[in-house]
Amino acid sequence: VFDLKSSIAVVPDFPKKGIMFRDITTMLKDPKYFGMCITDMVDCLKKYDFDTIVGIESRGFIFASVLAHKFKVGLVLARKPGKLPRETESQSFSLEYGKDAIEIHKSDVEGRRVVIIDDVLATGGTIEAVCKVIEKCDGKVESILTLVELVELNGKKKFKKYVYDSLVKV
Ligand code: AMP
Repeated sequence: VFDLKSSIAVVPDFPKKGIMFRDITTMLKDPKYFGMCITDMVDCLKKYDFDTIVGIESRGFIFASVLAHKFKVGLVLARKPGKLPRETESQSFSLEYGKDAIEIHKSDVEGRRVVIIDDVLATGGTIEAVCKVIEKCDGKVESILTLVELVELNGKKKFKKYVYDSLVKV
């Protein structure tokens, strides 16, 4: 049996002590598992009505680009500050130490029905910020999908007004 969960390596104490890092590179390098991952993501998203996929920098881009191609919808990048050259909307959010922010080209999601993609849901701070920035740009969040959900952290409580799915719950 091919089990997507078993294809994702768990690396204790990376990048710092106490973090159980979910390493998707072990899944990506095996076409059997990467194929299964994309098939499952496509199945999951079939039930939603959307015209744009927003991928979150940087591992979210890997999945978002394949899915945008499969569904024949636009691909939009949610990026770290200072990377996007045209007019952006921005949303800052707190990290364990300090702050970060996420930016989107304003005109790229205006009036769009958006699905948000990332690799791992941890505290939910990043996805919450992406939802806010999409709404600032006058886009609509149709649903959110991550490959992995770290269930104990309950990150989805931060964006509970939206529809959320994950493929692998750990
Ligand atoms: P958060 O905003 O806390 O939900 O963190 C989400 C971002 O951090 C995601 O884009 C993940 O790629 C990364 N991340 C957080 N925790 C982990 C983890 N345990 N393993 C792998 N990536 C993680």
